[in-house]
Amino acid sequence: MHSPEFLAASNRLTIDLTALADNWRAMNERSGKARAAAVLKADAYGIGVAHAAPTLYAAGARDFFVADAEEGAELRPLLPDARIYILAGMWPGNEELFFANDLVPIINSEEQLAGFMAALSERGDHPCVLHVDTGMNRLGLSVEEAVALAHDPARPASFSPVLVMSHLACGDDPKHPMNLYQLQRFREVAAAFEGVPASLANSGGVFLGGDYHFDLTRPGIAVYGGEAVNDAVNPMKPVVTAEARILQLRTVPSGGTASYGASARFTRDSRIATVAIGYADGYHRSVSGGGVTLRQAMPSGAFGFLHGRKVPHVGRVTMDLSLFDVTDLPERAVRAGDYIELFGRNVAIDDVARAGGTIGYELLTSLGHRYCRTYVCGA
Ligand SMILES: *Cc1c(COP(=O)(O)O)cnc(C)c1O
Repeated sequence: MHSPEFLAASNRLTIDLTALADNWRAMNERSGKARAAAVLKADAYGIGVAHAAPTLYAAGARDFFVADAEEGAELRPLLPDARIYILAGMWPGNEELFFANDLVPIINSEEQLAGFMAALSERGDHPCVLHVDTGMNRLGLSVEEAVALAHDPARPASFSPVLVMSHLACGDDPKHPMNLYQLQRFREVAAAFEGVPASLANSGGVFLGGDYHFDLTRPGIAVYGGEAVNDAVNPMKPVVTAEARILQLRTVPSGGTASYGASARFTRDSRIATVAIGYADGYHRSVSGGGVTLRQAMPSGAFGFLHGRKVPHVGRVTMDLSLFDVTDLPERAVRAGDYIELFGRNVAIDDVARAGGTIGYELLTSLGHRYCRTYVCGA
């Protein structure tokens, strides 16, 4: 069933499009009366937009968010009749991408508003979204600017946003008081733009409950199987499995060391597997079992999964290679050529991320180009 390339690859990714579709449908259901969009920025969080986009469209998604107009232009041929929103908005010089590809700019500032209105007067009607900052302090008009705009008698009739939106700073932390504060600020905006659909929730926001859903939700990470809420059981299905091949097995006697900096030191005779995965593949150096600064703050590095057992990373992750301690597996069970799971069904991607002091989002979006990728529907 697998291609010869997949069976021979040094490292490989299996991307389960059925899990992806199931996750989107689950987020759409959790969004209640609101419709769920899908966020496809950064090559669909690293999994490959060419496969993710048609899968999510087939699952029912019709609204898609990407970071910039170039991503939108690449997405358009994959989704001929979806609505594609551009988070970075329109800039002098890239207007043509919006009009030629029917992309909806998100207006993030008074400057962008002025630029958009100028483009409208030159080229005719075009939809837009108004982004209002309710506390993130990243992008968007202030609440005051937005409310004033809504009530401005001089506001051009041609300015009619198809959506007003804002973004939560703490959606992953249900107890954070910022959520309620932003909700209240956003309600002021939604009231000022009565009749215009509204959108506040990312994945974490969807889990905050119905008050946060408004008309359109914008889940990203949860659709890709990542953790959207801190310190909670992740209900999503894993989408990405990363595996890498054991190139060599060796025995290091008790007292011996391995890896750069002699950073792994063994207190028993140890079986060490040298695996074809490194930081050039987005397996961050910070997940190292030892020899990196983070290990002074966090007790252990990442684990892999091999023949039914978790095996610890030891020493430093290097550019192309990593070492795992397989001493606890029966000696004959492990062979050169076997694949270790780095994350996926048995090792949660967020556990690997935590070991490296980061988040699943960053691991996904830094997957390198060397993996052999295969797309499957179901396990
Ligand atoms: C990336 C992004 C999202 C999706 O966030 P997740 O936390 O991945 O669900 C939603 N809205 C905006 C504005 C974003 O930039």
